[in-house]
Amino acid sequence: MSTTESTAVTRETTLTSVNPATGETIASHPIADEQAVAAAVATARSAAAVWGRLSYADRKRHLLRWGSRIVARSEEFCDLIHAENGKPRDDAFLELMLALEHIKWAANNAEKVLKPKKVSPGALMSNFAAYIEQRPLGVVGVIGPWNYPVYTPNGSIAYALAAGNAVVFKPSEYSTGIGNFLAALFAEANPELPEGVFATINGYGATGAALVNAGVNKIAFTGSTATGKKIMAAAAETLTPVLLECGGKDAVIVAADADIKAAADAVAYGATMNSGQTCAGVERVYVDKSISGEFIAEVKRILTDIHPGSDSKASYGPMTMPSQIDIVRRHIEDALKKGGTAVLGGPESIKGNYIEPVVLVDADESSEAVCEETFGPTVTIRTVTGIDEAVELANSNKYGLGSTVFSRKRGLEIARRLRAGATSVNSVLGFAAISALPFGGVGDSGIGRIHGAPGLLEFTSPHSIAVQRFAVPGMALLSYTRTDRTMNLLRKVVPLIHGRHK
Ligand code: NAD
Repeated sequence: MSTTESTAVTRETTLTSVNPATGETIASHPIADEQAVAAAVATARSAAAVWGRLSYADRKRHLLRWGSRIVARSEEFCDLIHAENGKPRDDAFLELMLALEHIKWAANNAEKVLKPKKVSPGALMSNFAAYIEQRPLGVVGVIGPWNYPVYTPNGSIAYALAAGNAVVFKPSEYSTGIGNFLAALFAEANPELPEGVFATINGYGATGAALVNAGVNKIAFTGSTATGKKIMAAAAETLTPVLLECGGKDAVIVAADADIKAAADAVAYGATMNSGQTCAGVERVYVDKSISGEFIAEVKRILTDIHPGSDSKASYGPMTMPSQIDIVRRHIEDALKKGGTAVLGGPESIKGNYIEPVVLVDADESSEAVCEETFGPTVTIRTVTGIDEAVELANSNKYGLGSTVFSRKRGLEIARRLRAGATSVNSVLGFAAISALPFGGVGDSGIGRIHGAPGLLEFTSPHSIAVQRFAVPGMALLSYTRTDRTMNLLRKVVPLIHGRHK
């Protein structure tokens, strides 16, 4: 978001949502100021008391009903996503499908993952029973981006709800209508629930900042690393825990034994789909020199026929956020200045809000196109000598979100050497479509995980309970009634338990 927009929130009272393909106004939304944010959090707190006490089975019923409501109104929802975000309707449907998978997984698995667990009390405390119980946190504030305006925040929303929390969601200013539609469908599916189990507040960054300061029990943020750092600093004031899903600069390694056509297909798609506006999209490729010529030619061949647009034949849509276009241009120019060659497209590929695919070969590793998140339909390809060089270059980046490996025989071995939150072997982005797999990054890509069992645990706090089942005479370790005899016994037993390892 630009500084102008960020300061505008103090003056403006409404936010206008615009179609990025046409510039037409879609709708206006009132901006939530600090009081409105506080009121939403207070309503959510009351709702959390009801929602958090429901059984897992009841919450599951409500969540699955929400999913069915999304299905029932999916055509309308896809139209809205197409209009407000710009992505093709088919991509919008795929996004909804993936979000539905996560709603179902979270609903179906919350009880199994979060139910009280009995653990061993250990030999010295064997007269105790020990339990771990996962408590909901209360109210979770979710702050979302615009690139996958349903799938991405839903990774926090569905899992936080399934774990028994109420959610206050601030969608991106570029996808406000979409975020509100998602929450409206939850309310529509569950009219008997109190208001505020899942509600939205609308606005720019200042509204998100107000949510961070509103006394919520956790902030689940998805967006840029720069904003993530600001949120973490602000949340530190109140020790509000944060989950940060930030940017990426994902690498693909194409080994000498890769299926070249499959690797080229994955790179072409992963780099340009959604206009390259994908946190875990393909940004950098390291290909073995024995196959690089054939691989680069194949990527170029595929992308020559791929074009952005807003019609039903378009492969991807316009750039959703106009300010990103200048960043993409800067990265292309810097790569060309630093020794790179554009084998497809170049700065001239930027045509208004649309950017045609750009393939940059052998740009210096210090160029912005290789180091920084480009978030456009561009890709850099570097020829390397062997896996060791590829792994070293792939890992030499401040980000560490997703990654991809193409190799017929060594895929898993190479994947295990990558510094990343996730790796897809012989496919692109496979990890993002498997609900049971946690998603998140290392380094500048963030902290914490959405999805899967870790994604449910993120929205709970463990409560440890130790129950003394019976007292052992003379063995009250945590009491002044402890005797010398007990201590003598312990001095004999402790070396037997802990002192025998050489
Ligand atoms: P952004 O950081 O500009 O904005 C994200 C959200 O934060 C918006 O809702 C915005 O209004 C809000 N915000 C801005 N300033 C704030 C502040 N000071 N306090 C609280 N909230 C504030 O990011 P974006 O442009 O919307 O999204 C693109 C970025 O998101 C890319 O870097 C992309 O890689 C990343 N992303 C990451 C993931 C992931 O899962 N890791 C998924 C999707 C997108």
